[in-house]
Formats: sequence, structure tokens, C-alpha cells
Amino acid sequence: MPHSTLTVGNVEITILHDAEVALPCSRTFPDVPPEAWTPYLKRYPDAYTKTASGDDSLRVHFECYLVRSQGRTLLVDTGLGSANSNPNVVANIGGGVDGVLLKELEAAGGQAGDIDTVFLTHLHPDHVGWNVSRIDGKNESPTFPNARYVAHEDDWAAYETPRDSEIFGYDWWLQTVSPLHRLGVLDLIDGETELTGELTVTPTPGHTPGSMSLIINSGGEKAFIMGDVFHGPAQVTETDWVFHYDMDPEIAGATRRKMLDRAESETAAIAICHHSGFGRVIRESGKRYWQAL
Ligand SMILES: [Zn+2]
Ligand SMILES: [Zn+2]
Repeated sequence: MPHSTLTVGNVEITILHDAEVALPCSRTFPDVPPEAWTPYLKRYPDAYTKTASGDDSLRVHFECYLVRSQGRTLLVDTGLGSANSNPNVVANIGGGVDGVLLKELEAAGGQAGDIDTVFLTHLHPDHVGWNVSRIDGKNESPTFPNARYVAHEDDWAAYETPRDSEIFGYDWWLQTVSPLHRLGVLDLIDGETELTGELTVTPTPGHTPGSMSLIINSGGEKAFIMGDVFHGPAQVTETDWVFHYDMDPEIAGATRRKMLDRAESETAAIAICHHSGFGRVIRESGKRYWQAL
């Protein structure tokens, strides 16, 4: 797959595609009537597809981002993973197909050992897939051996007990996130944190309590990598639409509006984890829309 790279001042951001699945709109946005999708299916044909049974569906990408800034090499999220690194999630969400993040990284001129920071936008199972690798099902080690892994302590608190992590119906936590703590590579933070002079992570809660976004600010240009703050271009306009897996829909909606207001007023490029490509916010007849870059 060709790499899409965006330059923001002196920062280089490359999309690393891990996987893609189709999920019906009726399942991902159960409160949105089917006819409400019509203008968006027309406007953004690449963002949608139909399942074998003919249901309009989101093309749900699992994208990670390679970010180079001031001599540092960062990875944003680690995708779905593989049968080795995240077996239950790859079986349940990925249709049993391994993600390709490591191959994408190599094709982009990188190696796992080059990554010095893995920034996890949040600790949902589809964003932490490549965190840890195993040999023969044991001897786990960080997939990115020279990296510190950064996440928000509120997500750690939300999922650290097996009971809470079972809400998805399968275990992922013990295979992907809690090993980071045992291996001594996890840094939990509790608020806005500067990663380099050009990169800051900022809390954007609601989808999960500890969700965060990466703010890139370099040479007078800005970009926001917003994790799961919204799920596809339609939600740039329809900020009240509730995504099924938002833990606190009210806070998630307020965060979405705040971040899109900010992206618009600061003319920032934007990206999320489940839609492919960079975009920006434009206005037509008073309404806000996603426009691909
Ligand atoms: Zn999520
Ligand atoms: Zn997600």
C-alpha cells in the first residue's frame, strides 16, 4: 500500500496501515436512522462499502502513524496486531487476518528498534495490538524494544481489572497492555504532556476516560492526530451522532465539538485512527465537513 506522508513544518507524519474491516453503520451508530447516512455515502464514497448481505458499512481502518520530530521517532498506536501479539482481537475483529504494521513500518524506511516512543491514544483492544510479542506463546517482550510506551492513567484505571476488560467479550488486556507494566516500559501520564518541542499530547476524553490526541505544532503549521474522537468523515458534520463504543457519549460529543472547532479555527490538518488519510475541516452553507487533503 502506498504511504501517505504529510509534512507539518519540520515534522513528518506517515500513515502506517495495519488492517481494515467493514462494520455495518447500523451496528456502529445504532441510534442513527439509515436514511440519515445517504448524503455522506454519496459525498465520501471511499469511506463506505457494503457487507456481503448488502448493509451500508463503514470501512473501518486500523491506522497507526509514524511521526519524526527533532531527531525522535514516535509511533502513534499499535493497531489490531497479529495472532501472536493479540490473538483474541485478531480472531474477533480482524477476521483471523494478521495486521501488517511491521511490514508497513519497514516499507516506510523504519525498523521496530527505531521507535523511541509509542504514544497510545487510548487503551482499547484495537489500538494496542502490536504492543508485545511472544516466542512460543511465552517469553513476552516489547515489540518496539527501545521505546517507552505512553498512555493516560485513567485508561489504565478503567481496564486494569479483568472484570472491566471483559466488556468486549474477550480478553485482550492481559495479552497487550498489562505486560507493558511488568516489562517496565509503560509511562502513565495524567494530563497535557510535551513529548518533543513540536509534539504535545492533550486529553480528549469521552470515548474512553483517558483518550488523548497528539498536537503537532511546527513552523507555524499544525496537525491533530485524534485517535477515536470521531469515527469517519460524517461525524465531522454530525457531531451529535453517538458511536456505539463511546464510554461516555456526552463527554465524547463535547470533546468532538471542541477539537473540531479548534481544528477549524487553527486550520490544522486532522487524522483519526479508523479512517484513512489526512483531512481538514471546511465549511459549506454554515455546516462543517471533512475534506480530504
Ligand atoms: Zn476506541
Ligand atoms: Zn478504535
